[in-house]
Amino acid sequence: MKEFDLIDLVRRAMPVQDSDVLLGIGDDCAQLRIAEGHDLITTTDTLNADIHFPASAPAEAVGFKSLAVSLSDVASMGAKPRWALLNLTLPRGDADWVAEFIRGFSSLAARHGVCLVGGDTTRGPLSITVTVLGLVPRGEGLRRSAALPGDLIAVSGNLGSAALALRLADSGDPVPGSLRQTLERPEPRVELGMALAGRAHACIDLSDGLLADLGHVSHCSGCAAEIELEALPAAPELAMLPDRERWNVQVAGGDDYELCFTVAADAKDFLEELQADLGLRITVIGRIAEGAGVCCLAPDGAIFEPDLTGFDHFLARS
Ligand code: ADP
Ligand code: MG
Repeated sequence: MKEFDLIDLVRRAMPVQDSDVLLGIGDDCAQLRIAEGHDLITTTDTLNADIHFPASAPAEAVGFKSLAVSLSDVASMGAKPRWALLNLTLPRGDADWVAEFIRGFSSLAARHGVCLVGGDTTRGPLSITVTVLGLVPRGEGLRRSAALPGDLIAVSGNLGSAALALRLADSGDPVPGSLRQTLERPEPRVELGMALAGRAHACIDLSDGLLADLGHVSHCSGCAAEIELEALPAAPELAMLPDRERWNVQVAGGDDYELCFTVAADAKDFLEELQADLGLRITVIGRIAEGAGVCCLAPDGAIFEPDLTGFDHFLARS
């Protein structure tokens, strides 16, 4: 299929239903109207075949995840995602692949009211870049640098499920369906992020592993972070792992796409309300303290040093 036909396929699969989109796909730029009293937040992420996903992965799953990782970034700002741009680099004009990709992408976009308003379509090794624009009430956007000593550190959902799924798949073992689901179809915590805007102190989404991502919070906030390993929320499937291995996948595995955030020490009731309102597990996993760095405490009080640290593209993987 030719470039124009591919763009048309994408456009028809994602018709715009948003009066704030003055111009969508089809002109030189999109034109968007920003609601008064809001700040615009932006994020972009690239997924390269055979680096971020196997080239043979189902296109529908790739479409879903390529939007999910960006929506997770928007969630970590406390913002509502509104508009997306999609840059597709394809080895060939494979209409079936694009149609399946858009099926996954649009199912998640529809759920969060995100309009596709533009992008680019080029030829080359399979690669997808998704840009998402969102809105947050003026001045309420969350950031990594706002943790304060004494804050509670909380996370949503479970940690380590995606990392365990990847590890099982890599070693040729069967992957339980629920773990595969968290790896292939992570649920961006958009509603949680919006509820945290103006309430949480620091917030980050967990993509590279708790230690690495909380390390950013600690570094940017100029504080230390202490984690209680026994408090880390885990899916039942992780119970099969010995403690050290479980802690490893939970603190260094990555791909969780949960939110990690800090709140004032007296905000426990707020956390309980959130959990009930959103029907989403929220767990206090530690505290922010004076000092620097992240330390993980085992149940016996010993400091745990993980065998792996977070994912870094330019470090060889062990
Ligand atoms: P230009 O040459 O002006 O950059 P293009 O031919 O690249 O225009 O794109 C035409 C229109 O289609 C633009 O509105 C662009 O944003 C949109 N578009 C191109 N590729 C995609 C895509 N993969 N997803 C969504 N919109 C796209
Ligand atoms: Mg173009």
